[in-house]
Amino acid sequence: MTPTRETFGNIPPVSQWIFYALTVASMAVFVWGCWRRYRLWRQGSSIGLRALFSGRLKEIMPRIKPGLRRLLVDGLGQKRVRDRGMTGRAHAALFIGFMALFAGTTLLEIDHLAGGISDRFHFHHGLYYVVYELTLDTLGLAFLGGCTFFLVRRFRLPASVGHRKSDWWVLGSLLLIGITGYAVEGLRIAWQKPTGIGANCSPVGLLVSSLATSWPEATSRSVHLFVWWVHSLLVFAFIGSIPFTRLFHTIAGPLNLFLANARLGELQPVSMEQVEKDERIGVSNLKHMSQQQLLSLDACMECGRCEEACPAFATRKPLSPKRVVQDLRSLMSGNRWEAVHETILPETLLACTACSACSSVCPVRVDPVGSILEMRRHLVAEGGLSGTAAVALRRMQSSSNPWGLPQAERGAWAMPASMAPSPSASESQAQHVAAPTVHENPSFELLYWVGCAGSYDRRAQRVTRAMVKLLKAAGVNFAILGKEERCTGESARRLGDEFLFQELAQANIATLSKYKVSRIVAHCPHCLNSLLKDYPQFGGHYQVTHHTELLSELLEQGRLKPPTELGSLSSDTITYHDPCYLARVNGIHEAPRRTLQAAMPAGSGLAEMDRRREKTSCCGAGGGRMWMEETPEQRVSTQRAGEALATGAKTIAVSCPFCLTMMRDGVAARGSEAMVKDVAEILADRLGL
Ligand code: SF4
Ligand code: SF4
Repeated sequence: MTPTRETFGNIPPVSQWIFYALTVASMAVFVWGCWRRYRLWRQGSSIGLRALFSGRLKEIMPRIKPGLRRLLVDGLGQKRVRDRGMTGRAHAALFIGFMALFAGTTLLEIDHLAGGISDRFHFHHGLYYVVYELTLDTLGLAFLGGCTFFLVRRFRLPASVGHRKSDWWVLGSLLLIGITGYAVEGLRIAWQKPTGIGANCSPVGLLVSSLATSWPEATSRSVHLFVWWVHSLLVFAFIGSIPFTRLFHTIAGPLNLFLANARLGELQPVSMEQVEKDERIGVSNLKHMSQQQLLSLDACMECGRCEEACPAFATRKPLSPKRVVQDLRSLMSGNRWEAVHETILPETLLACTACSACSSVCPVRVDPVGSILEMRRHLVAEGGLSGTAAVALRRMQSSSNPWGLPQAERGAWAMPASMAPSPSASESQAQHVAAPTVHENPSFELLYWVGCAGSYDRRAQRVTRAMVKLLKAAGVNFAILGKEERCTGESARRLGDEFLFQELAQANIATLSKYKVSRIVAHCPHCLNSLLKDYPQFGGHYQVTHHTELLSELLEQGRLKPPTELGSLSSDTITYHDPCYLARVNGIHEAPRRTLQAAMPAGSGLAEMDRRREKTSCCGAGGGRMWMEETPEQRVSTQRAGEALATGAKTIAVSCPFCLTMMRDGVAARGSEAMVKDVAEILADRLGL
């Protein structure tokens, strides 16, 4: 006998009609619930959903390919959930089981409808049937396992995830749907009594049926019908409840994955015309957010991964990215569009280091940092910034650098002693390293972007000098802008002062155009990110590399040759701290390691921290926090220095002048004597420069 089963075997026609009526009713509730949320998202500004739903595909065509890739990799592939240990595995089991059962039910209905047209169209039999039953029977176990795990976790660790009463319904109903599904299958086997492969291809169902083997067929049929109804009613209630529970992320999540195209470290520019038209800057009302941003609020499942990764939250500052997203969502649900700044307070917005850790870990690509920086723009425009950060902005405005030092001293670290313009450059004089300016070397091939810290900060100047020595040793044809270089404006932009940033960026772009600069090496990851991602928005397009990338390249080409004999460095005493704007935001983490490796004795390795590469942890200086004061116990740098020292390292290598300052503070706060050095300094030492 060909193995098969009837879709509605043992279900009377009247029950089938009621079943279809309830299917329509539950779908109607589902669609109505989704429509209510969609109407909220549509209140947002700019691109996104209207284009998607009104057929203006031209607007979203460029997004389709990357959107589909995100759906495939992050959605179906669960890329950002897989590495979560047991939780990740349980979520994958639940997800795969759910998808399989959903697909299986859909196929069953298609077979039923096709078979209604003609018996020839039935495909639910034979080998297909065996594979189908075996697959669903097995993956149903994965589904049940996943549900059970999350239910137990919710009982045992109630604080680990956000809590809503409806969560009990979600997990409980899923579990009951799985259990009653097996019961229906077992009872069907009990009354149908299939034999051979037709029975054995549902091993779990067969096991359940063994409980009813002694029952008369009529009893099995009655109980089967009853349990089938319980199962069906649970499914209908579940479908109708999706838009009203946490499970709505299964709808909004994939939509957001498809539409969210923000790149880490990138901000949307604002034009003066736009500000005049809108009479505001940044977000003061939820309706100022884009439709996709509003949709993303519904995609959040409160998993808490962003909160776990947030350095501000870890140091007990009043910021949790998850809370920010949930607060905004509550405002949207309650139609309180204007209460943004009453709800998200200034201290919350200013606590963010713009490290992007939250956005980079979110499984559904919600972008808390993007929303925070948009709200911060409004806060700063309304005069909500005070203290040392406001002073730094004023100095950037008046002196083109956050220290407020004279522009004439910008290249002082590189000038011959006789030309040093003021006593503040005296340390530079003592160990000056002449670097050619674009005037002195007009045929330069590479521009060395020194940055404000490399120009004015005494400690960072040593890195600049090491870098110049290395460039010279490798015979690189380079030049610096000297006093014509200004702050990139990166801190100003992340702090929220968009127009100060634009002023500085436009001045720098004009200078770079004047000298026909096309290739730049920067040793500050914040300058690098700004030159790479901010400047193209204003017409500045350059090939920008980080100094560690260039050094690694020069080593590979043999233009820098570390000595083969062992130096004073010990192989197990160096650890490397990845700067957020280098490793996470721009994916540069191997070049610094290759450079360090070349500077260390052969065969030795770095003592690595747990949080490294894209998963690095912030030093606390980003987002303009470098210019803010904080109490010692709230310092992110102290925490990160603790992680570095826990490796046993005596030297902490960095590749960012902000990290250099913060890690030195952190090491000092921990009373350690470990050294903090830039990768360039370590290599220059090794080369005896
Ligand atoms: S924003 Fe993303 S990472 Fe944060 S709680 Fe929501 S879903 Fe999780
Ligand atoms: S960008 Fe960093 S500091 Fe800001 S909310 Fe996200 S994780 Fe927290």
